[in-house]
Amino acid sequence: MPTKKTATKKLVAKKTLKKTAAKKPSSKKTSVAKKTLKKTATKKPSSKKTSVSKNLVISAKNVLKVYKGTNIEVTALNKVKIDIYEGEMVAIMGPSGCGKTTLLNCLSGLDSIDSGAIKLQNMELGTLSDDKLSEFRAKNMGFVFQSFNLLPVLTTVENVELPLLVSGTSAKEARKLSEAKLDDVGLLDWATHLPGELSGGQRQRVTLARALVNEPAIVWADEPTGNLDSTNELEIMDLLTDLNKKNNQTFVIVTHSEYVGGRTNRIINMKDGKVV
Ligand code: ADP
Repeated sequence: MPTKKTATKKLVAKKTLKKTAAKKPSSKKTSVAKKTLKKTATKKPSSKKTSVSKNLVISAKNVLKVYKGTNIEVTALNKVKIDIYEGEMVAIMGPSGCGKTTLLNCLSGLDSIDSGAIKLQNMELGTLSDDKLSEFRAKNMGFVFQSFNLLPVLTTVENVELPLLVSGTSAKEARKLSEAKLDDVGLLDWATHLPGELSGGQRQRVTLARALVNEPAIVWADEPTGNLDSTNELEIMDLLTDLNKKNNQTFVIVTHSEYVGGRTNRIINMKDGKVV
């Protein structure tokens, strides 16, 4: 049974998870954070990219998504077909407005489609009820967004353990797993700090730890380095590729960054709602 404290955290989390973006750290704290960042981000990237299996994890066929306004209709996805395999790290790229975020939202079941079919791990999304879909997402997917979406009132480790608590893991186990994941991203020393005391790069690493703590099969990332400078972008990509290799998870990354695209196994280019 969850404790009262755990239940309160869950409630706070549910209410504010979507709305919250972390505060900018003060300059004093930033310089402390930067020093630790240098200390903790030590691993060199390996030049080898992940080996990819032939197990189909994400499959989209003829996907159509039309936004209907009062006077105007926008075809955001126009008969999109995509196959992504287990262990692949894929970038979705293209000009603003071409449908990248819509694709990510539809593939992950955050948004519905008008026609076509999307299968994740052989499960057709359209056949799942809202509850089943939420459960499937909680167990099998992790999300990383540009704006971090960390809860400012919770410590680093409390932020990371949220998905575990929401999906019923005991408080003790959640803390153990979260500390281990913070260690993976080089931030165990920062476990009891608030997000506002961390640099942007560190905050994004906490977001990564949170996305990965329940060992999801698929990690969706929308502009994960969009708010970071090039040093932090490099460090986040080192981490992502290391974790991708270590755990054979599938990563789908929406990005404008040529650098990020170049670090993935494959780039899916989009234009005007189509894969080109
Ligand atoms: P990208 O991520 O490539 O910038 P989006 O997926 O955000 O593109 O948007 C694709 C198209 O769909 C754009 O023309 C955008 O204006 C439109 N669009 C996105 N979301 C909505 C929405 N909620 N309502 C209406 N139109 C939308």
